[in-house]
Amino acid sequence: MEEKDRLVEWDKRFVWHPFTQMREYLRNEPLIIERAEGPFLVDLEGRRYIDGVSSIWVSVHGHGKKAIVDAIKRQADLVCHTTLLGLANVPSIVLAERLVAISPKNLTKVFYSDNGSTAVEVALKMSFQYLRHKGEDRDLFLSFDNSYHGDTLGAVSVGGIATFHSLFRPLLFKTVRAPSPYCYRCPLKLERTNCGLSCLAEFEALLRKYRDRLCAVILEPGFQGAGGIIVQPEGFARVVWEATRREGVMFIADEVATGFGRTGYMFFCDKEGIEPDFLCLAKGITGGYLPLAATLTTEEVYNAFLAEFHEFKTFFHGHTFTGNPLACACAIESLRVFEEERVLESVKEKVAVFSTELLRFYELSHVGDVRQLGLAAGIELVKERETKQPYDPREQVGQTVIMEARKRGAILRPLGDVIVLMPPLSIPEDTLRELLHITFESIRAATGD
Ligand code: PMP
Repeated sequence: MEEKDRLVEWDKRFVWHPFTQMREYLRNEPLIIERAEGPFLVDLEGRRYIDGVSSIWVSVHGHGKKAIVDAIKRQADLVCHTTLLGLANVPSIVLAERLVAISPKNLTKVFYSDNGSTAVEVALKMSFQYLRHKGEDRDLFLSFDNSYHGDTLGAVSVGGIATFHSLFRPLLFKTVRAPSPYCYRCPLKLERTNCGLSCLAEFEALLRKYRDRLCAVILEPGFQGAGGIIVQPEGFARVVWEATRREGVMFIADEVATGFGRTGYMFFCDKEGIEPDFLCLAKGITGGYLPLAATLTTEEVYNAFLAEFHEFKTFFHGHTFTGNPLACACAIESLRVFEEERVLESVKEKVAVFSTELLRFYELSHVGDVRQLGLAAGIELVKERETKQPYDPREQVGQTVIMEARKRGAILRPLGDVIVLMPPLSIPEDTLRELLHITFESIRAATGD
């Protein structure tokens, strides 16, 4: 049996793919990636595809960046893993200093973990315990409809996407849910600004009602990612944060998807002048090379955990690979590349091309809404534009677009009928145009335009 045939057979026999209906997956030949270069993924047969979703929103400088690979190798020669439980290692210290330097100025402490869900779990548990230490028995969190904060049960509890989350309700803790500014489908049929204001009014009413019971409000500032790249009206996150200041409730900014340049700013909190009590980071933190996450918090939160050992005020939480030196070394190098190559400036130039080119998609009659922030976009496909009637899920139009894109040389991943574009920040302008062209033609082919 040829090597490729063996891999195909083993993939089908042994691997259970995440967020994947395996019955459907098994009907097709799996696409197996062997290597990658810059913005391209290369399969076993040497075919190249543009990595149109940055390998699930993580790739910043593209694949195979020599400086980063070298930094990993250098660290691998020293030590690949030591625990952070009561012990320190060099890269985790250096990275913590760097993260504090680039984050909102009220954030001074870094707690490591290894993925976005754990970064959120840490923020939820830390805020809860902090309040206990202050003698406040609060037990609720407020989150937004269409929000996504990860797949572990705490993160699912604050999640607001029915398809992913509702089944697990019996296992989850109670949360207060505010409306999401999904203005394309505003139930009150308000235009964008008023839709945002109406959501904020409802949010503020809930905040006032539950203020004495709420540990924290959690928000993906800028856009709700897995909800369908639902871009918030300008200033939305800032108003939410300001309201939490007034009402004395903590604020968790989940920048797992929006952090590290995706919106054109290092963090979206920078753009809106937000100083959150917790900042959750993952995905792009290592440039997308190794798993790592961090939850940043304030001196005040940290100090509330300081006590004698026997008082048991310790934060009893820590994953095996917390502060992994290999991943931290990689993140340090990624941040160095950010500076050296002035990544944020170059993103701003690409965003101008991206947003202009995206407008063309309205020429396609099944494109209902195009949402974009920085180098992230969601193109919502509808059966009928006039009425905004969605496609029947049986039609699987999003998936059909993705398969069309593969034929044309791009890897995409839909969120239902929303086609997501999240290219690596380093994508050259001509490759970005090519990605948009492939997406356009693939939507046209899939919707019969
Ligand atoms: N928060 C947000 C905003 C996310 O987009 C994601 C992942 N898409 C997560 C948390 C969870 O991250 P992970 O998949 O690394 O657990």
